[in-house]
Amino acid sequence: MMNILSKMNLEAHQGRPLTPENKCLTLWRPSDRFVHCCIESRGCRFSRDSGACIMCDYGIGRGLSGEELEKALREELQPELDGVSMVLFGSYGSVFDTGEISAECFDVILDFAAGLGLEEVIFETHCCTVTEEILAKIRKKFPPPSPRVTVEMGYESCDSYVLENCLNKTLNLGQLCHAVELVHKYDMEASFNVFLGAPFLSAPQQLETAVQSVEWAFEKGADSVVVFPCNIKPFTLLYRLYERGIYRPVSQWMLVELLSRIPEEFLGRVTLSWYGDRGNFYENDSFPLIPPQDCERCHDRIFTFYREFMGEREASGRKRLVERFVQEKMDCGCRGDFLEELKNRKKRLSPEEIEELLQRIK
Ligand code: SF4
Ligand SMILES: [Zn+2]
Repeated sequence: MMNILSKMNLEAHQGRPLTPENKCLTLWRPSDRFVHCCIESRGCRFSRDSGACIMCDYGIGRGLSGEELEKALREELQPELDGVSMVLFGSYGSVFDTGEISAECFDVILDFAAGLGLEEVIFETHCCTVTEEILAKIRKKFPPPSPRVTVEMGYESCDSYVLENCLNKTLNLGQLCHAVELVHKYDMEASFNVFLGAPFLSAPQQLETAVQSVEWAFEKGADSVVVFPCNIKPFTLLYRLYERGIYRPVSQWMLVELLSRIPEEFLGRVTLSWYGDRGNFYENDSFPLIPPQDCERCHDRIFTFYREFMGEREASGRKRLVERFVQEKMDCGCRGDFLEELKNRKKRLSPEEIEELLQRIK
């Protein structure tokens, strides 16, 4: 039987607009060197079929033909690549899922990427779609030594309570570890995405579980971790929780605090994503997302810190930057509010209590 999180999330998805015609690609350029290319698809199978992941919506569209995709890559992505050394190819869910990106389209991506002379190519996909067949195909197209190939996998948390009861994520941690082994077998790198700000948790619990998840990822062989602080997206159950006052946007200070708690040995291999640097996937302003929050007084300083942090590749240099920033003890209202929230000593809700809460807002 479908659980209440899935049911309510599917209801929240209703009315989300289809991808407009001729918008085969959505491009983001978070830095001079890096472009994220999201390719239109029917939507993530987990979101589409079972309402999984109550925080996620990358939209729904249609499957492209190889010809359409080739044209879009050439006409839209190619002109954006000046100075770019790293391209991430993703879709609305998993770029290795043939239900989203056909084998023909995947070949088009590989042919296109192979001609770019990049330093790094990243494929974003769910761990259950990682197979020897697809990795062998990629490896054949990109023979060593270059470019570096990374397989980035959504994982969010190592805590099964968080996966099941807070996020409703369909993920088998054993399968994730197996995918890492396969990725390494083909001499590629594995990157894990960690979520910061899971609903139904207090701020200290959100932080603690994210720190543990970063550490777990490296212990299990991840080569890098991407931290995703929560963005509240329209057409999700999380947005409904926000509207009903059950969920509050995360503070930028929580991300800073997370960085300060990550052991130095891992810090050089941590990246930040969606920390307030991107607008929503839906291009018009009718459906804005809600990024992590700051205030006028601290906003610029925090973003300068993020730029410095990402510009520094060495773990020791990053540690120094984080310590220096935390020691500045910026005196702004939103930091004060966050520090107050950190004093919350509430226990975790039981799954039954979460269900009761949801029943009340149905
Ligand atoms: S988080 Fe990943 S698996 Fe979950 S719905 Fe989004 S794209 Fe799909
Ligand atoms: Zn502030």
